[in-house]
Amino acid sequence: MQWKELKARLLEAGAVSLGGEPAEQYIARSAAGPGAGGSGAIFFAMGGHRVKLALDPLSTIEIVHRGNGNADLYFDGNLITGRLLEPGFHCPDQAFITVTGSCIFHCRYCSVPKIGGRRKSVEEIMGMVESVRHRIHAISITSGVQGSIEEEEAYVLDVVKHLAFFGLPIGVSIFPTEKTPDHLKELGVAEVKFNLEAATPDLFMKMCPGLDYDLLWQVLDRSVQIFGKNRVFSNVIIGLGETDAELEACIRKLASRGVIPVLRPLNPVADLTGAPRPTADRLKKIFTIHEDSLTAEGLDASLARTMCTNCAGCDLVPGRDE
Ligand code: SF4
Repeated sequence: MQWKELKARLLEAGAVSLGGEPAEQYIARSAAGPGAGGSGAIFFAMGGHRVKLALDPLSTIEIVHRGNGNADLYFDGNLITGRLLEPGFHCPDQAFITVTGSCIFHCRYCSVPKIGGRRKSVEEIMGMVESVRHRIHAISITSGVQGSIEEEEAYVLDVVKHLAFFGLPIGVSIFPTEKTPDHLKELGVAEVKFNLEAATPDLFMKMCPGLDYDLLWQVLDRSVQIFGKNRVFSNVIIGLGETDAELEACIRKLASRGVIPVLRPLNPVADLTGAPRPTADRLKKIFTIHEDSLTAEGLDASLARTMCTNCAGCDLVPGRDE
């Protein structure tokens, strides 16, 4: 089975059980995003390829840790040998840190508001990065919103100012104000990600009440002006109820504006618990459109230095998952 086919099918399943030797050091625990608060996840890698899967003892797909990160994946009658990756913070090779683990908004697909985590201090974040400095090549920052979007931005800017000390490329993905791209650029941030989340404005209104879809487009356009092509990203979730045609229109519109879409299969949690995950066939079809739209606009996802497009754990990424 080729890698792209295997990853699409694993992403459709979403979870694996883990057995064999103790593997605590390989388990990633997320404090942000749609998968936050679960029982952990594991990165399974083969060569330069990787996939991140939630841990579920009831999954019929099994990974057996053989020791020292060597692992066997048992899937659909196949035995696939690979290895487990040790997360830096949240993902391998990067310190991907959630500054504030709570949120005043209630996006329907996200469990962060229900977890109600706390805000990390600057000292704590500096200590976290220092502890993994020897095995990361980038720092990525995201955050919920504790008080207001403006107050959160100010706090994240202060964090980023301190993180410049490490001399690593920094990627930032937060709820933006109109001025966020300019403020981040001034601090030397390398890449930004502002998430549209839904393929259409109607779906966005249903999924993210109180947030502004038009502002996101405005902020993405400004970001491309100042960060340049291949340095601006936007998550769009596959499986919120959009049609393939709506998703294709959104992907092509983002790419035509110089933004690299990050196409994230729905992880059905929070209000969407029980909703179907996108099928492997749909993921492969969308991947082909994604690939074609990037090529048509002269974009290259393999140049990403930070955040999800560089990590490539949770999505099929053109240029990485061939
Ligand atoms: S792809 Fe993004 S969300 Fe998934 S593990 Fe990597 S950095 Fe985290």
